Amino acid sequence: MTIKLHNTKTRKKEVFAPIDPDNVRMYVCGPTVYDRAHLGNARPVVVFDVLYRLLRYTYGADHVTYVRNFTDVDDKINARAAESGRSIGEITAETTQWFLDDMAALGALEPNHMPRATQFIPQMVTMIEDLIAKGHAYEAEGHVLFAVDSWREHYGNLSGRSVDDMIAGARVEVAPYKKNPMDFVLWKPSSPDLPGWESPWGRGRPGWHIECSAMAYELLGESFDIHGGGNDLMFPHHENEIAQSCCAHPEGEFAKVWMHNEMLQVEGKKMSKSLGNFFTVRDLIDGNWSGGWKVPGEVIRFVFLGTHYRKPMDWTETTAKSAMEELARWYRFPDFMKGNSSEPVKDISAALSDDLNTPEVLKILRDLAKLHAYEELSASLRFLGFTGKWFFDLIPSEEVSRRIQSLVSELDRFREEKNYAAADELRAQLTAAGVQVRSSKGISEFSVTSDFAPSKLEELQ
Ligand code: AMP
Ligand code: ZN
Repeated sequence: MTIKLHNTKTRKKEVFAPIDPDNVRMYVCGPTVYDRAHLGNARPVVVFDVLYRLLRYTYGADHVTYVRNFTDVDDKINARAAESGRSIGEITAETTQWFLDDMAALGALEPNHMPRATQFIPQMVTMIEDLIAKGHAYEAEGHVLFAVDSWREHYGNLSGRSVDDMIAGARVEVAPYKKNPMDFVLWKPSSPDLPGWESPWGRGRPGWHIECSAMAYELLGESFDIHGGGNDLMFPHHENEIAQSCCAHPEGEFAKVWMHNEMLQVEGKKMSKSLGNFFTVRDLIDGNWSGGWKVPGEVIRFVFLGTHYRKPMDWTETTAKSAMEELARWYRFPDFMKGNSSEPVKDISAALSDDLNTPEVLKILRDLAKLHAYEELSASLRFLGFTGKWFFDLIPSEEVSRRIQSLVSELDRFREEKNYAAADELRAQLTAAGVQVRSSKGISEFSVTSDFAPSKLEELQ
């Protein structure tokens, strides 16, 4: 099937033609590891996971190489270490593992390579030396800077700005040693208290952008197929990656297709700590957010698929609630998800092949549900990274079911005896354990919520 993808570089939706269909190569900028990933950080992970699944389906699982890096050298990490009194290594190792756990909870497959910047310092140094030798970079006061004037015609093409516009719009304080105010750092000196590596320019550390150029070259070569990330990275990060890579390896073209996801907002507003609408993926999963209930990772994934990746997406509690109800309704179908096929229906692979049209995918899933096409629906869900584990794990064991049933009967008895205080108390206790009781015409039925905690039932007599 022909895949079409929107390319930021050409601003067009284009037919995707891999350089080598036996090895389709994709690089996505990963997180800086100093804190839990917030909900916005999860968006590119889910978007490019869906693309990775589509590429594997189309070209074969062994014919796709997906690289996503960890930025483990950065001034934000240094600051976190200084303020917490913990070591940098401890912070980056812990945060890296958090990221892996949280993204796995969203049903994202692990990329084939997850390089850490600190593992590629010698390769970065080599690339910087090469850029100096080719006249694209210069040393000044212990720093090495990329000279944008050596690449002036191309610099800014991805994001659609000229060097002059950038200078006019720049609010950064300009270091006196820069030849052009837009020149950016490839290497900078480190004081003894900061992480540093020996280099031809003294002990120092890399600027942020060079790591992606060096790691993409090492793992994917001088030309590869797709480069992704959030659109906040387009300038300066991606612009600088292109400048570095194309100048160091003029024989290649770096990434052929550039893809950018739009930003995520919360209840119509930018996510921010001061607005109280800032939460991490883990906060949602654990129920530590304004909504107060546990949002299964799959539900987050389902909500994300509801908005096309090139559109801003709004996270609302209402959408999350209805996503959870919809998924749960499907998982309640008889014998659902029992098979192990993960072959999507043709319409779904076609919708994804049209620049990842995930809102259309959800419509197709809903149609399958309406038609009671349970096998196709479960195979397509599995293809999209849904397993229903959170739902099936919530189904109480027979023993626990009996226990709940006897508590529910007790509740009915209290009501018959018109002992409403005791009935209300028991109902509140059941709610706290994640058991909802619905009663009509004297018959009570229970269901469990995502907050179901069987251990809390033990405490009830
Ligand atoms: P950072 O660790 O800030 O470099 O971000 C890691 C990834 O998350 C990048 O691809 C960003 O573009 C992306 N990102 C950050 N904030 C948001 C947001 N609010 N919505 C969508 N993507 C975001
Ligand atoms: Zn990058």
